Amino acid sequence: MPRYQPADSVVSPRFVGVPTFARLPLVDTLEDVDLAVVGVPFDTGVTFRVGGRFGPNAVRAASLLLRRYNPALDVMPFEVLSCVDRGDISIVPGFTERSYQAIERYVAPLADAGVVPLLLGGDHSITLPHLRSMRAHGPVAVVMFDSHTDAWDQYYGERYTHGTWMRRAIEEGLVDVDHSIEVGLRGSLYDPTDWTSLRDELGLDYLTTRKVLAIGPEETAARIRERVAGRRAFISFDIDVIDPAFAPGTGTPEAGGLSSAQGLEIVRGLTGIDFVGFDVVEVIPGYDPGGVTATLAANLAYEMVSLAALRRLRREGQGT
Ligand code: MN
Ligand code: MN
Repeated sequence: MPRYQPADSVVSPRFVGVPTFARLPLVDTLEDVDLAVVGVPFDTGVTFRVGGRFGPNAVRAASLLLRRYNPALDVMPFEVLSCVDRGDISIVPGFTERSYQAIERYVAPLADAGVVPLLLGGDHSITLPHLRSMRAHGPVAVVMFDSHTDAWDQYYGERYTHGTWMRRAIEEGLVDVDHSIEVGLRGSLYDPTDWTSLRDELGLDYLTTRKVLAIGPEETAARIRERVAGRRAFISFDIDVIDPAFAPGTGTPEAGGLSSAQGLEIVRGLTGIDFVGFDVVEVIPGYDPGGVTATLAANLAYEMVSLAALRRLRREGQGT
């Protein structure tokens, strides 16, 4: 059995103790660790609502209900992978570039040690230093769920924000663009070319929310798998791809999105992909009555842990 596992909620009540993700041990080591959940309480990169700095702990609190068996993917993820919660990265509120340095300094040793990082945001600008921390391994195929492209060039003359990180990541050679895809685009735009320029200018593929709703979760997942095509891949899940009716606790809400169930089904459909990192971002508990957004984020993260576990089983020849 893996060295690090969640506390057993049949033995000790899940509301007892200090919340960690899925009640995993809070440790500061990389030894005997396969996957590390890391909080990134950074929200200086936003362009509208603030408060994502409180996201990681809200997701942890919501994750206390997670159980060991994932029936949708038929896997006991925590019996396959040794998983830990490593706490939060000490970012510098108000200072993006110093925070980026702190994030990269923290995550790069994980990636170098072969530990799969699962980052809890924080705003979406943290995905740029997350991808930088994997630079040594070459560009990765990014599977991004978002109602926004995050590929604009600048906001207020600033180049490092939650709306520009994708363009920066491509410019820095961190993204395997030929195998990357943005899923769930919707909402009003600045310009008619905001979406089409992803393909025409950057080489990124995309599926709009309307397209996803038309073809359904299963076909959407199939198209993502086809796009990734065996490359090393990375999921970045901006919770605002989900309809604000299901996920109101976010910074840039857009009406008419996917349901929680549809979002979860698409992620579950991404088996067979060689994922090397994950993040779930843009959860703002201050706009999240009942913790519904944090609950969804915790469950999405659980599906990601499950995908990583299935990948391990497949590599060991025990899975499909
Ligand atoms: Mn985003
Ligand atoms: Mn977004």
